[in-house]
Amino acid sequence: MTVGLVVVSHSRALADAAVGLAGEMVSGGGVALEVAAGLDDGGFGTDAVAIGEAIAAADRGDGVVVLMDLGSAVLSAELALELVDDDVRGRAVLCPAPLVEGLVVAAVSAAGGASTAEVAAEAAGALDAKTAHLGGAVAEPTPQESVSGPGETATFTVRMPHGLHARPAAQLVSAVRGLDADVRLRNVTLDGPEVSGASLSKVATLGALQGHEVAVRAHGDDAAEAVRRLLALAEDDFGESAGTGEVAPVPTGRPIPASPGIGLGAVRTTGTTAVEVPPARPGTPDEQRGRLDEARTDVRGRLQTVRDRAAREIGTAEAAIFDAQLLLLDDPDVLDDAGARVDAGADAARAWADALDEVEGRLAAAPDEYMRARARDVADVRDQVLRALGGVVPEDAAGEGILVADDLTPADAAVLDPARTPAVVLAGSSPTAHAAILLRARGVPAVVGVGAALAARAREAGVLAVDGTTGDVVVDPDPATLADFRARAQALADRRDDALRAAHEPAVTRDGTTVLVGANVGSAADAAAAVGADLAGLVRTEFCFLDRHDAPDVDEQEAAYRAIAEAMGGQRITLRTLDVGGDKPLDYLPMPPEANPFLGVRGLRLALARPQLLADQLQAVVRVAHDHPVDVMFPMVADVHELTAARQALDDAVAAVGRGRPDGLRVGIMVEIPATALKSAAFAPHVDFLSIGTNDLTQYALAAERGNDAVAAIGDALDPGVLALIAATSRGAGDDVLVAVCGELAGDERAAALLIGLGVRELSVAPAAVAGVKQAVRAVDLDAARELAAAALGSPDARAVRGLLG
Ligand code: PEP
Ligand code: MG
Repeated sequence: MTVGLVVVSHSRALADAAVGLAGEMVSGGGVALEVAAGLDDGGFGTDAVAIGEAIAAADRGDGVVVLMDLGSAVLSAELALELVDDDVRGRAVLCPAPLVEGLVVAAVSAAGGASTAEVAAEAAGALDAKTAHLGGAVAEPTPQESVSGPGETATFTVRMPHGLHARPAAQLVSAVRGLDADVRLRNVTLDGPEVSGASLSKVATLGALQGHEVAVRAHGDDAAEAVRRLLALAEDDFGESAGTGEVAPVPTGRPIPASPGIGLGAVRTTGTTAVEVPPARPGTPDEQRGRLDEARTDVRGRLQTVRDRAAREIGTAEAAIFDAQLLLLDDPDVLDDAGARVDAGADAARAWADALDEVEGRLAAAPDEYMRARARDVADVRDQVLRALGGVVPEDAAGEGILVADDLTPADAAVLDPARTPAVVLAGSSPTAHAAILLRARGVPAVVGVGAALAARAREAGVLAVDGTTGDVVVDPDPATLADFRARAQALADRRDDALRAAHEPAVTRDGTTVLVGANVGSAADAAAAVGADLAGLVRTEFCFLDRHDAPDVDEQEAAYRAIAEAMGGQRITLRTLDVGGDKPLDYLPMPPEANPFLGVRGLRLALARPQLLADQLQAVVRVAHDHPVDVMFPMVADVHELTAARQALDDAVAAVGRGRPDGLRVGIMVEIPATALKSAAFAPHVDFLSIGTNDLTQYALAAERGNDAVAAIGDALDPGVLALIAATSRGAGDDVLVAVCGELAGDERAAALLIGLGVRELSVAPAAVAGVKQAVRAVDLDAARELAAAALGSPDARAVRGLLG
């Protein structure tokens, strides 16, 4: 039984956020959740027709529970019921529960297989926990007439710092739902009443905090299993880490090279340099306000620059960090507060610092972990403005030296000054995390995933020696080690000079095989920086679509792609069609929330679902292809039929442009899905090239989400399983279809021979890596490379493969 849910709200944003919150509780729960919120023009309001459609869409035959916000939402929902089919109406329940709390418990309950009546009842009781917490009267717990005798019993202690809050409570309820067991829980520490373990709203009333003991009592055929599951969950701290308040476990550590190069020098750590409130400057309230406005303008400009850069180079999700900071900078409440403090006699800096401290303090005390994490963002904005007021040149993540940190936000990575940052060492993170991608793009050597212990020692070090190529991190090196690292640095510098001198020459192996070395670019500026690139092997066209409220039209896209083609000076450009969706939503492409966005409507799937978007983009591509050598490449292809549909869309675009098929317009796909790699022979007849996206291919092959620290060490592109997929792609491609790699692995100079041995004949890399990779190709001997590839394919793990690379 899966009861569907419909959220009716005056505000689309509110509904989406509530659905997102509920989604946190039921990841993978498979609940049909529809939203009918806001008006078509983006304004507030509800629409009975839209609600009726949402009810019909959410109904899978098991009924629908409709949750509404206030006032006319209820009237519209009632009207909507008049509009749906009789049988759907018979199964739909309008539930008076509070929208947010009700939705969360309803989602958990529906995911657990409850009936419409049960889901609605659960939702209706959703305020109990809050009421109890705030000292109000809560309905008596359900009488336990069905439970007699001790049954299966056990106790567990809550170890999570934030207690059995909503997320772990949802896990608990989900674990026992569906079992033939009546599970009761009691907070022994508070000597509270027994409540049903099948009800999220009741579990929340336990008020179980860190250190509290909870008694479990279960009856029924599955009682023992229910208790076993609960104890296992408790033992695992309900999937949260007990000691730190962080969701992600503290990495145990295996240093992973993330950005090549040598760094030698003193250490600096993030967050160690507190920003002082500058000494008070006299002046009238108007003058103080003027200073504050000036400082905010200064910071706004800087934040906007960083945000634009992040949007271009990293992604909208990360750029949103800066949007939030920009909003805070102009927050009317904060400004009112600071203004009032100025009126009361404070100078600009003191008024700003105190106003922001207040916001930070409120967030820091929030029970919710996510909100507490935002306190750091507030402190960041406060400090930036204080620095501007004090005339202090803005620091990049705190000064000069090798940066040692637990992790680095893309924001920090985006503003690090490479000239003052010899290297970065991170306890967590992964080589494909956006921060690492940025560090590579900016030429800052980095080693990630070193673990908490090594990071702690590194923080204490006087001097660190870091090799971002091998992953070596040496704390306080002795003179011999220092000399060794200096020699490595010199050798690298020499190699870089040689490489740059030869950058414009083709990359030909010792035995005469030409390997194309391209650049991955996201803008015309990147293309201009791609010195020596034989082509742009991957143009991430997302840059055109991010940070805006509507899709770019054909003319605008044409101009952007043309600018890249021109910056590449006649070299071929590979325009990848829009690769967003799922994890990277766009404002103007509203998508239902997905429990597993990386497995959802991404890349070409999204494009095919939005034919006009694809048609416009392909027309722009075709127009440019009439004047420049252009490849078009489709991302995230799983099935030949998708490719056939995409090719048809391309043919339609050629017809629409009306100038015939451009000479030399070639078509390829990205190989990012393991099944696609294994089926490459099926794709080969339909393409000119296959370009392997090792970033995604690795995450899918090893079931290790890119960017998730906790599995970074697993998601290693050198894993023999991933290499086998590359080999399979080459085998299936045959002789006529070029096999490229455009994922991050292509930029690893040490992997060049291996990839060539596996049959790859084009490597597309970050612009700064082009010259070095070309040089690495020139050192390759094809026979030896094939032997290396065979040995790597027979290796047990990535570590062994790395050993083969020397
Ligand atoms: C990849 O997946 O390897 C790739 C190049 O695409 P992106 O990193 O843009 O997902
Ligand atoms: Mg990809």
